[in-house]
Amino acid sequence: MCASPVKVSVAKGDGIGPEIMDVTLKVLQAAGAQLEYDFIELGEQVFKRGIMNGIDPKAWESIRNTRLLLKAPITTPQGGGYKSVNVTMRKAFGQFANVRPVRTFDGFVPSKHKGVDMVIVRENEESLYAGIEYRQTRDTCHGVKLISRTGTELIVRYAFEYARANGRKKVTCLIKDNIMKITDGLFHQVFDLVGAEYPDIARDSMIVDIGMARVADTPEKFDVIVTENLYGDIVSDIASQVAGSVGLAGSMNLGEACAMFEAVHGSAPDIAGKGIANPSGLINAAVLMLYHIGQGAVAAKIGNALLYTLENGQHTGDIAADKAKALSTQQFGDAVIANLGKGPSQLKPFEVGSGKAVKMPSSKATTQSKRAKGLVGVDVFIDAEHAKALELGAKVNQASTANLKLDLMSSRGLAMFDPKNPTKQPETEAVTDLWACRFVGQNIGNNDVRQVLANLENLGLDWVKTENLYTFDGVIGFSGRHGG
Ligand code: NAD
Repeated sequence: MCASPVKVSVAKGDGIGPEIMDVTLKVLQAAGAQLEYDFIELGEQVFKRGIMNGIDPKAWESIRNTRLLLKAPITTPQGGGYKSVNVTMRKAFGQFANVRPVRTFDGFVPSKHKGVDMVIVRENEESLYAGIEYRQTRDTCHGVKLISRTGTELIVRYAFEYARANGRKKVTCLIKDNIMKITDGLFHQVFDLVGAEYPDIARDSMIVDIGMARVADTPEKFDVIVTENLYGDIVSDIASQVAGSVGLAGSMNLGEACAMFEAVHGSAPDIAGKGIANPSGLINAAVLMLYHIGQGAVAAKIGNALLYTLENGQHTGDIAADKAKALSTQQFGDAVIANLGKGPSQLKPFEVGSGKAVKMPSSKATTQSKRAKGLVGVDVFIDAEHAKALELGAKVNQASTANLKLDLMSSRGLAMFDPKNPTKQPETEAVTDLWACRFVGQNIGNNDVRQVLANLENLGLDWVKTENLYTFDGVIGFSGRHGG
């Protein structure tokens, strides 16, 4: 029986992208994947045509239509230039989950560890990785770390659903809530609440630094990891590296509107055009895609041919023990094609039914209680270069009103001026030009905040940003100051 082909948008990407995509498509065709391709342009070439987000308008249309994208890596300039096309795509199509299986190919691909078989489920739209940044003074920049209950619940629920559908036993949450008590605290809290709904799956949590150290040291002990966007980005590279599979692993980005499949590695400009890149990462991404669209038999056929090829010692230069015998990208693809129908004798094989459809969670947060929200103050940030803490504090204090009074002035989170003790020298003078001035009060409204801002302006002070301070059911929703 021949299923009707599934439409998929295909982007050949930058660097080694076109080389590994061509081979991947050849393998898909030889294996009998029922796919119809719509080729689109993303990345460097599009940007060079003056389209600033690197995404051709026809590409948007295609992806909206197919809701499925197989994508080769795209080059993103460092420290400036256009924004990451990858991040734009993930956000625009609400791809809240990035899923990266990481495994070792024991005895066949060199790795520092054995028996690794974990899956990293990374939140894909929030955290520092959202890249929301500002520079409001000459000396200081800051980035916004955004964690929402809705986004967290979505990813955590997906991780538990994934574990359940794939016979996984444990989900580990990585967070840093000893320091970021509010943002990471929320992530952890939601993990515990949602995790309790899955009594069949064990769960634990680790502070992210020791968690990553353990991933590097004993990766075989992890099963499913769920974590925030930036931590997930780092831990998935560590895991792939120690497992020896950076060039071999595929990943998927999933959302309600669209699913995107890609290799874990980047566009490798250093080897682009040489015909030596390993196409396994993209082939594995295509395998994930085939499972996702219900073509599990073809997925398993390709996955097992790939494993047989690796067991058979047919390797590209990046993993070949004997570099002289290394296959080119093209030769490796031909070897996989020749091995279709064969399977591994020692490595864990792909199964037709594995990668079962995971129940996609709803984007509506259910762990949210109705919380009474109250405004209790405002942090006003002032740009004051070379200011002396006590002089500046005394001036800022004059902006206090009957309802909103200066409580503390700080720099980089360290208390610098206390109006109750206005002559006490701080431990150290501030080295930057950004000062946080905390005004607090009771029964206040936005008009009180506006009055403080007007007073600061009249004093000739340059306020550059504000953060309102709220409580939720009486629990404070803002951080304290060190030494305050
Ligand atoms: P990279 O993964 O491209 O390369 C790191 C090293 O691994 C290089 O030495 C490279 O030659 C090697 N390598 C990578 N893939 C390989 C393969 N398939 N076969 C053999 N060797 C391979 O990482 P990078 O150098 O940090 O990034 C290059 C560019 O890729 C950057 O512009 C970055 O932003 C982009 N990038 C894109 C994606 C994506 O599109 N999803 C992901 C990561 C990086």
